[in-house]
Amino acid sequence: NLSDKLELVFKKLRGQGVMTEDNIKDALREVRLVLLEADVNFKVVKEFVEKVRVRAVGTQVLQSLSPGQQVVKIVHDELVSLMGGDEDNSLDLAAKPPVAIMMVGLQGAGKTTSCGKLARHLKSQRRNPLLVPADVYRPAAIEQLQTLGRQLGIETYASKSDQDPVVICRDAVKYAELNGFDTVILDTAGRHQIDDFLMSELVRIRDEIDPREILFVADAMTGQEAVNVASGFNERLAISGVVLTKLDGDAKGGAALSIKAVCGKPVKFVGLGEKLDALEVFHADRLVSRILGMGDVLTLVEKAQSVFDEKEAARLQQKFKKNQFDLEDFKNQLQQIKKMGSLDSIMGMIPGMGKMMKQLGDAQPSEREMKRVEAIIDSMTRDERANHTIINGSRRLRIAKGSGTTVQEVNQLLKRFTEAQKVMKQLQKLGPKGLMRGMGGMR
Ligand code: GDP
Ligand code: MG
Repeated sequence: NLSDKLELVFKKLRGQGVMTEDNIKDALREVRLVLLEADVNFKVVKEFVEKVRVRAVGTQVLQSLSPGQQVVKIVHDELVSLMGGDEDNSLDLAAKPPVAIMMVGLQGAGKTTSCGKLARHLKSQRRNPLLVPADVYRPAAIEQLQTLGRQLGIETYASKSDQDPVVICRDAVKYAELNGFDTVILDTAGRHQIDDFLMSELVRIRDEIDPREILFVADAMTGQEAVNVASGFNERLAISGVVLTKLDGDAKGGAALSIKAVCGKPVKFVGLGEKLDALEVFHADRLVSRILGMGDVLTLVEKAQSVFDEKEAARLQQKFKKNQFDLEDFKNQLQQIKKMGSLDSIMGMIPGMGKMMKQLGDAQPSEREMKRVEAIIDSMTRDERANHTIINGSRRLRIAKGSGTTVQEVNQLLKRFTEAQKVMKQLQKLGPKGLMRGMGGMR
């Protein structure tokens, strides 16, 4: 965690007043390392660190922040502005329909999947998209898109694998025009590497269709390499934006930063899973937080400070340590979290939490579910709350009746609780970065 590292670097600087070339040298080295580790291109890192240096030198060290925090904040703000800040990255579809979106990228980057996700996204915005398979080389590529279309209830153009992709796209646009589709999403072929054959085919499609958007689909897992590939596609095709896929994995997302810095093209969407709903509109600040490995810690701290009872937090932390986290604590904790806003948004702010919440699947309760959870736990005896393992079949039935729920719901809650216990254990392993530090232990 960059904050922690900088905290060490700055230990001696506390209370010295002003940041100088000399006393931020080590801090900038840490920043450089973090960015390189996150797959940011080294040239980009170099320029960036220089920017931060210029901004930091001469800055007064605020009373309320430590120098480490202050540098982190400068780094954070500069990165967000490098990524385009809060500039509008939405698709430009304001043209006479049918509007074409062309998806390009290497094989396996996630083009076909992203076509499906995008179609779903557009449908939810009341557009009427037509999916167009134009990858005639990869076996079953056409069927792959058709299957996605069927799942989504979105029509897929009936391409044939012995047709010229340029002809497919041209005919599909005509078909869309005649049949009332306002958007066509072109799923093009990819290769393992950029080559002339692929590029000239894509250029021919572009020249024929004149798509409103050309989205380069980049696999975040490929790290640094993604920048070179993006540059190659951009030079030949003049892309309009980027879809960064597979950010649900371990990739830190530094590639996005480099692509934006090197090609000047914005990331418009990020892919966060194989499922069709795993697409998010890009937010610069979320990606930057991910790169810096700190979640939206700052926001979280602000929110947490206003509502979270510090004593309660300390008490819970002790319990986690001793592995005594029980159902009563579970309930309290959910209540505290409820006060802070939606559970999803809170969890996303805690470093490492996003991934763990994925493991829990649907374990996060909605506000409405919260009431039921409380009713169920309230219907338990004190012993049961302290030790859930004694809750056998007949107890489950009694608890269900008492809370006006079903045994199934009681089972579900217990399952969710044991999973939460596991998460707590993992958080504990994270040490001071864990949940409670974030929630209550910070100034
Ligand atoms: P294409 O060759 O560019 O069309 O790539 P595909 O759409 O066929 O995707 C290749 C593989 O990546 C498939 O197994 C997809 O399920 C997977 N994939 C695509 N996007 C994502 C994502 O955002 N996250 C994850 N985890 N997997 C993805
Ligand atoms: Mg494909």
